[in-house]
Amino acid sequence: MKETTLVGNGTLITLGEKNRVIKNGAVLIEGNVIKDLGITAELRKRHKIDQFIDATGKVIMPGMINTHMHLYSTFARGVALKDEPPSNFVEILERLWWRLDKALTQDDVYYSALIPLMDCIKSGATTIVDHHASPFACGGSLDSIAKALRETGIRGCLCYETSDRDGPDVAKAGIEENERFIRLCQRERNELISGTFGLHASLTLSDETLAKCAEVAKKLGVGFHVHVAEDKADVDNSLKKYKKRVVERLNDLGILGPKTIAAHCVHVDAHEMDILERTGTNVVHNPESNMGNAVGCAPVIEMIGKGITVGLGTDGFTSNMFAELRVANILHKLIKGDPRVGYGEVLKMCFVNNPKIAQNFFSRPLGRLSPGAYADLILVDYLPPTPLSADNFLGHLLFGISNAVVDTTIVNGKVLMQNRKLVGLDEAAIAQKSSELASKLWERF
Ligand SMILES: [Zn+2]
Repeated sequence: MKETTLVGNGTLITLGEKNRVIKNGAVLIEGNVIKDLGITAELRKRHKIDQFIDATGKVIMPGMINTHMHLYSTFARGVALKDEPPSNFVEILERLWWRLDKALTQDDVYYSALIPLMDCIKSGATTIVDHHASPFACGGSLDSIAKALRETGIRGCLCYETSDRDGPDVAKAGIEENERFIRLCQRERNELISGTFGLHASLTLSDETLAKCAEVAKKLGVGFHVHVAEDKADVDNSLKKYKKRVVERLNDLGILGPKTIAAHCVHVDAHEMDILERTGTNVVHNPESNMGNAVGCAPVIEMIGKGITVGLGTDGFTSNMFAELRVANILHKLIKGDPRVGYGEVLKMCFVNNPKIAQNFFSRPLGRLSPGAYADLILVDYLPPTPLSADNFLGHLLFGISNAVVDTTIVNGKVLMQNRKLVGLDEAAIAQKSSELASKLWERF
């Protein structure tokens, strides 16, 4: 018999296809899976309970899913740039990210992953889809991140961003790292760690390299995780070199499809949206990063209107999905000059599409509290000051729950944080070591 844990006495918000709000609600966890849910007293009668977690004064809800993340961005925090401040997206890549990623060692990769993974636990994100680059510490880099995932307990899908920007040997190493890691995950069938094929972006990938990647991914039965038309520079490059827009080019080369994540899609036209919809390609919107890089606002309202699966990610800008969803809600209102838009889209991106995207990488349902789903849930300190029901959950999420404190985080049935304290992780020691490594990296930067 597997050990059972009852998380009870809270306000249960199930989400999933039919969202339910249950007062005095409880979730029964058996092993790594949700076994039952309902009213606490009834669950106590129905089941043998080994352990009880009291959620009085708290909301019990599914953990958040982040479908586009860059754990390696940690050491950029506070770094001094060597040149004039970048004035556009390509300069941001050249003066910050492509200098940082070249300087990363395996130790750096591991510690720069631990820090945001602890932030994920603290802000209630239980699953991430990461996109990694460390061109001169490429082979084994996904193992370094996987080690950090195992030690923190977060569920993650990893990939290495293949690119031609550092020459053919590094491009080849990127392909090999993806293939090696995907094969390892397929052999191990680990329920917490999965792999997909990473590509940087159209503007740093030749037709030859993309064709090779398509061949390897097809053999492995996986899709891609790639930046698409994040900035106008990606579109200009594709039109100039290949006489096609980015989505058209990637489609012609076999990169799109229902297992592929096209991050950003800020600069896509109606024809490209039709291709994304027809191929079942997933798009991930990252509003905070897009605003920070001043690249524009993705046509999310239009894409969702056309039936494209658009999820929400943070692009390494933050680990906090609650912060990201608050921005996603207000950005589109501002851009459209219409206070009516954004609400439904936020709900759809976070609780319908993100689970659907993550489902490509894991075997059980995620992002909802229902029997058979992974036991990935969070307890948030929240006493509803107005009536809370399944119908008005979104208002409470946007203006209350997303600003409240996450008290407890459980992933795969394991408690990673309780009473706001990380379990089994020495946060101060990890931050200290991270800071030492970052200062050495800054000297090489
Ligand atoms: Zn990104």
